[in-house]
Amino acid sequence: MIPRPMTPIVVFAAWASLGMKNSSGSVRRARVVLHGEQADSGRSHRMSPSKNPYKDPWWERVVADGVPPRPGSHGVSDADTFDVIVAGAGAGGYVTAIVAAQGGASVLILEAAAEGGGTTYKSGAGMWVPDNSLMLARGRGPNRDWAIHHMARLAFPKVYDADAPNLGLEQRDYDLIETYYEHAATALDELRDLGFPLMEFPSFTGNYEAMVEYHSDTENGFGAHLAPMKDTGEYGAGVHMVARLEAMAVARGVEMRTEHRVTGVIQDADGAVIGVTATTPGGDVELHARRGVVFATGGYPHNRELAAENFPGGLYGSCAVPTARGDFIAIATELGAELGNMGEGWGTEHPLEQMVRDGEVAEHNGTYPGDSVLMVNGAGKRVVNEKMTYHERSKIHFVRDEDGGLPNHLMFIVFDRFIVEDETSQPNKWPDPNPSNYWVISGETLDDLAAQIAARLEGLSEATGGYTLKPEFAANLKATVERFHAFARNGVDEDFHRGETDIELDWTGPSHVENDKNPTMWPLDDGPYYAIIMAGSVLDTNGGPRASAAGEILRADGSVIPGLYGVGNCVASVAGAGYWSGGSTLGPIVTFATLTGKHLAAQPARELQAS
Ligand SMILES: Cc1cc2nc3c(=O)[nH]c(=O)nc-3n(C[C@H](O)[C@H](O)[C@H](O)COP(=O)(O)OP(=O)(O)OC[C@H]3O[C@@H](n4cnc5c(N)ncnc54)[C@H](O)[C@@H]3O)c2cc1C
Repeated sequence: MIPRPMTPIVVFAAWASLGMKNSSGSVRRARVVLHGEQADSGRSHRMSPSKNPYKDPWWERVVADGVPPRPGSHGVSDADTFDVIVAGAGAGGYVTAIVAAQGGASVLILEAAAEGGGTTYKSGAGMWVPDNSLMLARGRGPNRDWAIHHMARLAFPKVYDADAPNLGLEQRDYDLIETYYEHAATALDELRDLGFPLMEFPSFTGNYEAMVEYHSDTENGFGAHLAPMKDTGEYGAGVHMVARLEAMAVARGVEMRTEHRVTGVIQDADGAVIGVTATTPGGDVELHARRGVVFATGGYPHNRELAAENFPGGLYGSCAVPTARGDFIAIATELGAELGNMGEGWGTEHPLEQMVRDGEVAEHNGTYPGDSVLMVNGAGKRVVNEKMTYHERSKIHFVRDEDGGLPNHLMFIVFDRFIVEDETSQPNKWPDPNPSNYWVISGETLDDLAAQIAARLEGLSEATGGYTLKPEFAANLKATVERFHAFARNGVDEDFHRGETDIELDWTGPSHVENDKNPTMWPLDDGPYYAIIMAGSVLDTNGGPRASAAGEILRADGSVIPGLYGVGNCVASVAGAGYWSGGSTLGPIVTFATLTGKHLAAQPARELQAS
């Protein structure tokens, strides 16, 4: 990718005596110019529609009773002081606000976009909750030992040691994982009791009792995956999750103001955070918080500079909402917060051309449905099991070779007419493979396809920084397809073991009727052939300031920045490099937001007085 010019980070840590003061003296405003702020001034971010704009019978069924709209401002008063101010109206922000309000706090949510819901609204709303009450009621678990090892191993694979104290992890990382295990099931039960019905996440094919365990450990992990339940008793997605949280917030008197992008914090003379500054269409405002300010502002995939610093080769876009710009990172760093997990995200892949054109992609790519499909790198070689779960598969794009190059920076899905013509309902369906779409490349033969891909890449040269195929691409592609055909005929992928796990079989989508060996593999037909250029991406990033289990933002020495809190994808995730399952983003987000909301409700109110 072509490096873009850095946005200057200008700090106005101006001491001032205007506005509110605490009883002990003056206030200061830590104000940084945020990513794209100048370009953004006066612009109102409209949010994208719900996931899956393509015709998909599965999605049509999920929203058969209507798509709840994204929430707007509500309960707006002229108050400028609250117990708690929350920045960001996604899952993290809503749950914190609801729990704090339930505990008696007055709460204001400020949302940068014109509508709330964030990336949560686009999500499948799965929540991975080990030993949750629904699975226990079915007689599965408890299995604490398995859960702790599973989380530690995936989160910190480089240091995990099953026999070492703390499993080889740093104390604080181990403690957060343990806290998650100890509180997740209770937090979800409490949320349900506050008005958020839950159910087991269903199996996509219906062939299993519930969603297959993401890492195919059906003996231990099965049943940990929860979802919101609609009034009809059916599975509810992110659109339903947000609608439910919104209703719960309104019922508890939580006020929400949209088009308020929080740009900085106000501190008292002791350094405690006692308020925020925000930009609005009507100008900048200052608002004050007696018990704390919580950032729940999502990750930073749409901040190209931060992405380039933290992901090899950078990110071209993401399916996170466009306001996922990492505002909290600049603000908290200015206050001395320690950052963690910065090079990590909830991995996926997206069509390069969608990201180059739109930045925000509508949906994420779970798996590549169908059997007559494979994926090659720029040298025309298979380098990964294409049916591998998305987070793990996406990591291949960022792997460096011995020379420091990125041989898999772009990957090419190659498929045939069977895939194009398939109309199977598949929630994980890739972007519409119909050749009429601008991201699909066609060729009569494999040589022709290779030439068409090369030509397409030439047109994308500015965006990719001059990326080209290796000279051997066409020859290797033909050899790779031949080898894949041989594996498919025998039903065994000798190179990457495709189709050997339960989740691959549950998610694989349609197979040729005559395929009786391995439903995930079948030889491509004689052409025409099709390709989509894929780049590594994220559902959202999950690195940022380090937070305690109660959401308190920490300095490098472990001390707390008083009054400053963070939850969700804007802080360093408990999951580290791992993806414990689908739902391992929202499970921890809801759990730690619950702990943060309770902590805030129990805080003494700081005495603020008008200057
Ligand atoms: C298609 C898709 C499917 C997914 N499916 C799942 C799933 O099934 N299970 C799962 O666990 N995860 C899933 N995810 C990931 C999940 O949606 C996110 O990890 C999660 O919703 C993030 O929640 P959050 O509260 O941290 O952020 P968000 O929901 O993004 O909320 C952050 C909010 O903060 C606002 N904001 C940003 N900056 C500011 C500012 N300066 N001031 C005020 N407001 C600001 C944003 O506009 C946004 O509304 C999916 C994601 C996608 C895209």
